[in-house]
Amino acid sequence: LWGTCNKPDLVYNCVAVATPAYYVKYPEKTFDLDFTVNKNIIDTIDTFKIPLVHFSTSEVYGKTWSEPYTEESDCVLGPASKSRWIYAASKILLDQYILARNMDCCIIRPFNFIGHDLDWLPDIHKDISAERSWIPRVPSCFLNSLLTSKSMTIVRPGTQKRCYTYIDDAVQGIISIVNNWSKCRGEIINVGNPNNETTIDQLAHLMGNSWLELTGEVAKVPIYVDGVDLYGKGYEDSERRLFSDEKMKRLTGWEAKIDLDTTIDMTVKAAKEEYTS
Ligand code: UDP
Repeated sequence: LWGTCNKPDLVYNCVAVATPAYYVKYPEKTFDLDFTVNKNIIDTIDTFKIPLVHFSTSEVYGKTWSEPYTEESDCVLGPASKSRWIYAASKILLDQYILARNMDCCIIRPFNFIGHDLDWLPDIHKDISAERSWIPRVPSCFLNSLLTSKSMTIVRPGTQKRCYTYIDDAVQGIISIVNNWSKCRGEIINVGNPNNETTIDQLAHLMGNSWLELTGEVAKVPIYVDGVDLYGKGYEDSERRLFSDEKMKRLTGWEAKIDLDTTIDMTVKAAKEEYTS
């Protein structure tokens, strides 16, 4: 593979499909990539003793919520008949495998990073969409609707919550982990902005407001659907993903700074600049 001269100083392993619609439609392929391929990557990295920042996922915390998720919280997934959970199951297995190997690794759990260059947008990237029969993550779905003057589709009840973290903040957070490697190696760390919690209803509203300010166009009234109608019968939702960033602050001194309004404004602005002339 590589000799001592060009061995990497560090590897960031972000290899994964991270789209619920894909897990529901292609559970086996999700497992193949998100566990089997990743296991090979991890084995190789460990053979060469290269420090690793491994991307786990906030999805591992699962479907129930009672208090902010810490890295020690229980991970409660739905039943095996709900294929949505194969992604979380694959990722938690990999986290345990990495810890069992006692690798020179920090496992990070990202909480809904957004910003420029998000997923593909189905009505904009027609060439990609022709090969994809699933929908992207919700910020991309909403951007797609705004850019094409369609109604956003909100999965009922719309009160489900996520914490959105602006990508520049996320990158700074990950860099601060690398800069504090002796404290972070061997650890699992939540990365994100717990102050940026929003319901999906409010996300649609805020993205519509950003669009109005930028273009003068009023977003269409959203349509409400059931999750299984949008995704298929293997779908279950995560009700809330509020988490603790105390460990991150304790080990690195870093915390996210970019607030929700700015995060959404910058995400919508970047998409408008990229896709309209
Ligand atoms: N969702 C929605 N409309 C869409 C796509 C998703 O209301 O067009 C909802 C989805 O049911 C979930 C939330 O938005 O409650 C976040 O979904 P996303 O696909 O971004 O992934 P997640 O954060 O659940 O991993």
